[in-house]
Amino acid sequence: MPKDRPELPPVEELLTAAVTAVGGVERPGQVKMAQAVRDAVESEEHLAVQAGTGTGKSLAYLVPAIRHAAESGEAVVVSTATIALQRQLVDRDLPRLADALEGLLPHRPEFAILKGRRNYLCRHKMAAGMPEDEDDQLFDPREVSATGRMVQRIQDWANDTETGDRDEIVPGVSDQAWRQFSVTARECLGAQRCPSGADCFAELARERAGEADVVVTNHALLAIDAMEDFAVLPEHDVVVVDEAHELADRVTSVVTGELSEATVSLAVRRAGRLIEQGVADRLQEAGEDLRALLAAAPPGRVDTLPQSLGMTLALVRDSAFACITALGPRNKDKDDPENAGLRKAAFTVLDDVHDTAQRMLDAFGPAAGGTGSGLSADDSDDPDSGAAASKGPAGGDAEAEEVHRAEVVWLEEGRGRVPPTLRVAPLSVGGMLRDKLFGDRTVVLTSATLALGGTFDSLARQWGLRPGEWTGLDVGSPFDHPRRGILYVATHLPQPGRDGLPEAYVDEIAELIEAAGGRTLGLFSSMRAAKAATEALRERLDVPLLCQGDDSTGQLVKQFAGDPATCLFGTLSLWQGVDVPGPSLTLVIIDRIPFPRPDDPLASARQRHVAASGGNGFMAVAATHAALLLAQGAGRLLRSMDDRGVVAVLDPRLATARYSGFLLNSLPPYWRTTDPGKVREALRRLTADL
Ligand code: SF4
Repeated sequence: MPKDRPELPPVEELLTAAVTAVGGVERPGQVKMAQAVRDAVESEEHLAVQAGTGTGKSLAYLVPAIRHAAESGEAVVVSTATIALQRQLVDRDLPRLADALEGLLPHRPEFAILKGRRNYLCRHKMAAGMPEDEDDQLFDPREVSATGRMVQRIQDWANDTETGDRDEIVPGVSDQAWRQFSVTARECLGAQRCPSGADCFAELARERAGEADVVVTNHALLAIDAMEDFAVLPEHDVVVVDEAHELADRVTSVVTGELSEATVSLAVRRAGRLIEQGVADRLQEAGEDLRALLAAAPPGRVDTLPQSLGMTLALVRDSAFACITALGPRNKDKDDPENAGLRKAAFTVLDDVHDTAQRMLDAFGPAAGGTGSGLSADDSDDPDSGAAASKGPAGGDAEAEEVHRAEVVWLEEGRGRVPPTLRVAPLSVGGMLRDKLFGDRTVVLTSATLALGGTFDSLARQWGLRPGEWTGLDVGSPFDHPRRGILYVATHLPQPGRDGLPEAYVDEIAELIEAAGGRTLGLFSSMRAAKAATEALRERLDVPLLCQGDDSTGQLVKQFAGDPATCLFGTLSLWQGVDVPGPSLTLVIIDRIPFPRPDDPLASARQRHVAASGGNGFMAVAATHAALLLAQGAGRLLRSMDDRGVVAVLDPRLATARYSGFLLNSLPPYWRTTDPGKVREALRRLTADL
């Protein structure tokens, strides 16, 4: 940090310069947000800001962030949930902002993007021909040739790339192909020992990040950085979490452990080359026992541990430990990088198998855990290790510790070549975030959707923030929702059933689309419903109808945006990922309130946990989940100041159920109606005006 803080122009002046340079219009909400971010940074208080689409929220946090970095000499980390936003920041917003602010700050603002190590090409793995992990696809010649073509494309790209960043490869490549060219942080030899360490892409990315004022990353790496004992990200005292409504889910994914026959087999393949065959065979046999057991068990949450599963998990754990012991000391091959790479790859997956089996046993209490080997897998010399996933959460005070330890185990059905898989995840990541992320830095959380049921409390609880530890601000939206949009709830329709899409829903969708002349985004709560609607309506309507899965989602959205008559139907990724301003999107149809499925293991366990503590589990979990998705879905309608249209929710419960007020309060303030005639008339008028 510089001894003398430079005198810098105020945030308002920098924002004006930035907005002028990008040819935009300064909006009151944007100024208010930039000032609030500045105040939060100065007073070191956590801040949650809801900023509707069109506010220009990225400039509103980037300007005070850059100013703080220039003043303090410390980097500011900006974390996003999606690659799309990461690209927008790095390819568009930050370069323009650097140009605009260069003359007003002591130096041109520098920025960098930093991802987890497995996202970068590993030169050592490529040169040394480290183990290829996938062998089961060899039985399917089509997959072999598809993977082979991708491998060839990666090799061609590897000769030219300057960043080694997987996301540069267009079209993308499968995980299977990419794994042959990348390592996880725990598999990495470490730059000091690695023969390619001096040119390592991941190391270069970290170096660039170390010199930047703003480092753009994702929620997963942010979580790993916060939870590990050593830093992955450069030193920073301020974090901006954009798309903050996704934070808890992304962190949950990072700390979810999984175990299947496939993970055990991978450990056996890696260890088998290096240890006595008999020891590896015992782990193979334990993996086969696990496969047989999981194949016969019903999918879903595992509430009590069957004796057979407990014994098999203990067998897997102990056999993995025997393999680890047989591998010998971890630093044995330090002067032999090729073998060191093979051994590290084996240790990594064996540690994962061992620790995950132990963690699953622990989830059922000390009696189920048995006497484990007591091995700690945490020998990693690299911070970007994902080891958090295998270690489980860390705790704070005694009560929070109790919550931290509560984990859910469930069995996921096998699909195609993916075998049945046992997973384990914490009931809540709030305590972990509170201790590790919010503990020693200022965090600004922002999204277009933070207020659920009219308050930020639901999300603050998910983040582990207690009242008094944060401030909230809703800067509103520049859009005139009541004048530009209609929220129509089809109260005359029956409630959605469990048996697919009711016929009356198909009729209603057809009438609405006819009135809108196409221009419809259909957001369905399941892929089955999206497909059923597509099939039924392709026969009835003469507008082009696209369904998710027909092509890549990016291509489908492009086609949809390019032709106003075209409709696009789909499910989850469309609820949040479609940004189509203009006349191509005039009608958003939502088939049902998107509650989690009743058999969703984590949601149902969380719901039960809240109820057991005396709370309302349904409202705290299911209604909150639905409100967030509904708000995101309804937010697809108005994407620019000139947009107009209708959000049609076919599920009548949005107007009639006891929880409907909570859900309606989570949506943008559109003008509301339940009259189908009025809505069709409005759509016809809108279409005629376009
Ligand atoms: S330092 Fe690690 S990631 Fe980089 S080339 Fe070496 S093994 Fe690969």
